[in-house]
This record gives sequence, C-alpha cells and structure tokens, in this order.
Amino acid sequence: MVSTFRPQVQTRHKGDKQDIRKPHDRGADTGTRKWQRLASDWIHKYPLCVLCLVRGTNSIYHNDGSSHLHVDHIEPHRGDSGLFWDQNNLETLCRDCHAIDKRSHEERGLGAAQWFELLRNEMKLYQTKTGVEQCSELLPPRLANEILRAQST
Ligand SMILES: [Zn+2]
Repeated sequence: MVSTFRPQVQTRHKGDKQDIRKPHDRGADTGTRKWQRLASDWIHKYPLCVLCLVRGTNSIYHNDGSSHLHVDHIEPHRGDSGLFWDQNNLETLCRDCHAIDKRSHEERGLGAAQWFELLRNEMKLYQTKTGVEQCSELLPPRLANEILRAQST
C-alpha cells in the first residue's frame, strides 16, 4: 500500500493546480462565464493600465483591443473567492505590466499595500498629479484614492 502512495505525492509536487485546488474554490476561476463577463465590463469601464498611467506611458494604443488588457487581482486571491470577486481588489493592467511587473511583484510575496506603494513611487518619478487626476475617472475608485491621496501628503 505504501508504494501506491508515493507516486500520488510526487504528482502533487509537480504543481497540478487541479489537484491542489479545493473543490469549493472552483467558482473562483477566470475561465468561468461569470468572470469573463465581469472582466469584459470592467475593461470597458476602466480601460487604462494603471502602471502605464503612473509611468506616463499610457496611451490609447494600449486600448486597441481588450486582449491587451487584463483584469488583475491587486491582492492575489490564491483561490479565495471573497478576494476573487471583490471589485475593490481589481485593477486593469496591460499585457506587459501584468506579465512582467505584477508577476515579479507577486513572486516576491508582496501584496496590495506594497503594490500601492510601488504605484505611488513610480508616479513620483514619472508622472504629475494632474496627469493622473485627468484620468482618475478611468481608474477604479480604490486605486484612484490610493494613488492621489499619497501625492497630497
Ligand atoms: Zn501597462
């Protein structure tokens, strides 16, 4: 019986997400129709990559197709359906910022507070408050608050 256990343990260590994920977390899946609809509405409402915006590199060419834009979870949800569906935990990122900047941020184990700090620091370097304010209606409220609040201090 022991020998049949070993291969199962090794399979899990290969990182098969289907095996690791708990059954009740399966609703928190970016493949679901509910999520795809939310993401589509979200990008329509908030069509700017926030990281490009604070770096002053955001321009309309980023918005030539929704496939270039991702709805990102600011705090990684890690299967938590509360975090997954919380619209205060969502932001728009372009493909590059999502795949490079945000991924490396998360790989270092950093969360929302450090992400907001990064955005504020990038803005100090590259952007003006006015530049961001002009676009604030295209940012989700929590993000606009986090970024603009810091500039006034
Ligand atoms: Zn970007």
